[in-house]
Formats: sequence, C-alpha cells, structure tokens
Amino acid sequence: MSMHATPPNDERPVILTGDRTTGPLHLGHYVGSLRNRVALQHSHRQYLLLADAQALTDNAHDPAKVRSNVMEVALDYLAAGIDPNATTICVQSALPALAELTMLYLNFVTVARLERNPTIKDEIQARSFGRDIPAGFLCYPAAQAADITAFRATVVPVGEDQAPMIEQTNEIVRRINRQVGRGLLVEARALIPAMGRLPGLDGRAKMSKSQGNTISLSATDAEITDAVLRMYTDPDHIRTSDPGRVEGNVVFTYLDAFDSDREAVADFKARYIRGGLGDMTVKRRLATVLCEIIGPIRERRMTLERDRGYVLEILRSGTSHARDVTTATHTEVRDALGLFSF
Ligand code: ATP
Ligand code: MG
Repeated sequence: MSMHATPPNDERPVILTGDRTTGPLHLGHYVGSLRNRVALQHSHRQYLLLADAQALTDNAHDPAKVRSNVMEVALDYLAAGIDPNATTICVQSALPALAELTMLYLNFVTVARLERNPTIKDEIQARSFGRDIPAGFLCYPAAQAADITAFRATVVPVGEDQAPMIEQTNEIVRRINRQVGRGLLVEARALIPAMGRLPGLDGRAKMSKSQGNTISLSATDAEITDAVLRMYTDPDHIRTSDPGRVEGNVVFTYLDAFDSDREAVADFKARYIRGGLGDMTVKRRLATVLCEIIGPIRERRMTLERDRGYVLEILRSGTSHARDVTTATHTEVRDALGLFSF
C-alpha cells in the first residue's frame, strides 16, 4: 500500500491544520497546536498545510522568505514527531483547487463581515497597515475556509486566535449549503487546548513570529536559558523574601504549560506567593523543563537537515495526494453551484 492510500472504509475524522511559512516554529505553535497534532495523527486522518500562499498575504515584499520556510516548517513538523506515514504534509500554493474554491467562497462572504473578524482586526493593528490592507490579507479567512472544507475536515487543532476563523468558515459552509439545498460541505470545530494562547517572552499577549518574542523549537540550551533569564516576572518581587504574584507572571504561565510535574509547580507557586522563593530558582527550573522538551526536537531536526531529499520527497508525495482530494471537492462544489461544464 502506498504511503497515502486510504482504505475505502476509513471512518476516522479528518483533521486539517497548518502554519504560515514565515519562520521557524516556536513554543506557541507547540502548545497551541503541534502537540495535539502529534497526539491525534493515528486516530484521525490528518493533513498539514504549509500555508505559503497565506504567508504571502502580508509578505508579498519577501517571497524568498516564504519559499525557504516551506522546508524549515516541514523539518520542524518531522522533528516534533509528525509521522509522514500517518500524516499528509502538503504545500498550499501547489494546490490550485484551493485557490479556485477561494474564488467561489468570496462570493458568499461580505467585505463588512471580513472587516469584523476579530483576528483580522487585531492582525491589521499589529501590522500597522492603516488603510493599506492587502486585499489578499483581508480575504484570507475565505481562503482558510477553502483549506478546511477542501479536505472535508471536521477537526481543526489550533490556538485560541484561530477560533474566529473556524466560525467564519462554518458561516460560509452554511451559506453554500443553503444555496445548493443540501449538506454539500461539512462544518468543522476548533480543537483548542487549555493553554490556547502562549504569551510572548516579553509578556505580550501572544508569542508570535512577527513580534520577535519567541523561543524556537530549534533553540540551543544556551539560547533557551538566556531567553528564560530575560523573562518578565513580577516587578514588585524585588527581594527573595518578598511575597510575589503568580498571575500574569510569564515564568509561571510557562511552567503551567510545559512542566508535567503539577505538584512541584503548585508547591513553587505557594512558596512564591508566600515569599521566600527567588525568581532565579523558578527560572532555572523552567529553563531545565524547556531544554528537556526542545533538546530531542533539535537533535532530530539536525539529523533530518542532512537529508533534505527525503523531506522533499515527503512534500512531493503528500502534495500529490492532497491534489486529488482537493480537486474532487472543487469539482463537487462547482457542479453543485451549477457552473457551466463541458
Ligand atoms: P505569524 O506571526 O507569521 O502570524 P504565528 O507565530 O502567529 O506567525 P501562525 O503560522 O499564524 O504563527 O500560527 C500557526 C498555528 O499556531 C495556529 O493554529 C495558531 O493558533 C498557533 N499559534 C501560534 N502562536 C501561538 C501562541 N502563542 N499560542 C498558542 N497557539 C499559537
Ligand atoms: Mg499568526
């Protein structure tokens, strides 16, 4: 059986998710989505999209960055434990059916609705577009609806910031289903973990490539330790004996997200609040925990980097399989809408 042949009676739910190819993956991706993808890849039929076309919507000035990161993100996937025999990894810009579906879906959403999307609003702010919003950027929620529905996905493992995208996808699905008078497309649900939005090292709301406040999944032990030591804590916790605050203290937020020893974390919190536990001690523990998570990922990545031909082959065969799946959906949608065909 070839790597991507799906048994005809495969009833596993379908996952579609992905990442913009704008830079190496970081701890935010790991807690928000990647950890779930690795855990679910055998119980689900999973597709991962290297979203280079979407990355271009705010990086048209730097297509070389978008192109080179296709390989980098693929390496991060495999290093983090994505199994190419269980998961199909594919390249968005090489799937024309996604672009064609996007063109159709844009007729089922209004400009006002796109402008009201809270994530789009935040991102427009963060990118200081002012009035000069690239049209592709404003419209990318419709492209995301095309991505999700083209694979007939029902589960989308994402960070909290993506919830409005899934909501908007489902609105488009309902409008099209109403138009064609049957359940042509399926609705999807966002699978958001308890830590749905990992804050940045600087304490800002979200660790994000475009904010430069990240620890990447290929960071060295020295880089990890350095980043943790520079992390923002409780500014009023000056002497070790002072009582400290745990809420809004990024070091503790990270311990919650990454330290599997819940009891030790609870004990640290109690001692910090009471006074008598220094920031350095907490930071040293966090650095150790993060080095233990990132270390094996970095090592696997270094091995894979030496065999880019193997990774390219995975992308080629994954994209070829994805082309069949997405083309079939596009054909169904255009037929259901009753477009002229020869
Ligand atoms: P960019 O700044 O280029 O938008 P990004 O760092 O926001 O990059 P994306 O490629 O937009 O990363 O996001 C990919 C996936 O990772 C999405 O599901 C998103 O919700 C999730 N994700 C990204 N950053 C975080 C974070 N800090 N916490 C939780 N999930 C995150
Ligand atoms: Mg983003």
